Amino acid sequence: MQSKWEENVRKVIPYIPGEQPKDTGIIKLNTNENPYPPCDGVERTLRDFRVDTLRMYPDTDSTELRDALAERYGVGYEQVFLGVGSDDVLSMAFLALFASDKPVLFPDITYSFYDVWADVYKIPYKTVPLDDNFRIDPDKFNQPNGGIVFPNPNAPTGVLESIDTVEKIVSLNKDSVVIVDEAYIDFGGVSAVGLVEKYDNLLVVQTFSKSRSLAGARIGFAIGSRQLIKYLNDVKFSVNSYTMNRLTQACGLASVLDEQYFCDTVKKIIKTRERLKDELFSLGFKLTDSMANFVFASHKDVSAKVLFEELKKRKIFVRYWDKPRINNYLRITVGTDEQTDKLIEALKKILSERGV
Ligand code: PMP
Repeated sequence: MQSKWEENVRKVIPYIPGEQPKDTGIIKLNTNENPYPPCDGVERTLRDFRVDTLRMYPDTDSTELRDALAERYGVGYEQVFLGVGSDDVLSMAFLALFASDKPVLFPDITYSFYDVWADVYKIPYKTVPLDDNFRIDPDKFNQPNGGIVFPNPNAPTGVLESIDTVEKIVSLNKDSVVIVDEAYIDFGGVSAVGLVEKYDNLLVVQTFSKSRSLAGARIGFAIGSRQLIKYLNDVKFSVNSYTMNRLTQACGLASVLDEQYFCDTVKKIIKTRERLKDELFSLGFKLTDSMANFVFASHKDVSAKVLFEELKKRKIFVRYWDKPRINNYLRITVGTDEQTDKLIEALKKILSERGV
């Protein structure tokens, strides 16, 4: 029985993150983390960190990190917004920028946090179906809306839309804010950051969690027009001004300053991803042409659910959703070459045990 006070409580169905098992002996390919460590500069920063400075609140503007990002992306300081992971940035963006009574639009297959934020902030929304190849038809976003959000590449499919498609969606919707969630853009896509000067309604969101190996540090950022970033900061400073701690700001800065390591790591992951795609294809999998740090694969004979469970028994964690249209697919994070070999070996065994 519900207590009377519970009637006054906000009830939400929360987002379910991928499992973070305590067991260290597993091969963890379920949350799109980078298998390589952050750059050396991050380690040096932590080693040399002056602990006495933790007495004091952090810089609410994360000035140094924001400056470094502005320079790296060729935009002004006032065009950069920082948050505690891109989940925080996106959540603030929903709260600040989607205040219309008209529905926010996003693809039917997409990052499963979008409908959760919409629900928690009581934002109406409508999903726009992707085609049979999980592609976006920009014309389907040409309808009344209170904002648009989509990942590019999409998650969990890995499908990348061209910059022309992205621009078409933005240009068709100049009366609402369009958020492009580029969590995976560094693994082979063209960023929409280059369009922010042209479209003041465009917000591009990125993260340090994937290409910069800093999922545990929690750093995300957005780039947009000065006006958009001001609206975002106004809401952020109305919720919590000290979001990013001193250690995180310093680690983020060290990461941005090591462009070479960033490029080398991304290249390694792309190379392994392409090999993984080839190997899975020869085992009878159908795959999207993922441009992210994961692949999205469905086997012609053995169900994704069975493969997910069998891999788990062998201590290999991948991601599976029992959801319409994608319930026969596995999303597998690209690990190291050694992890990839073990994954392929395990899949070969599982398939041969089933006479495939
Ligand atoms: N957007 C997409 C599409 C994602 O898959 C993720 C990772 N779960 C995020 C945003 C959030 O990543 P983070 O908060 O670690 O930056």
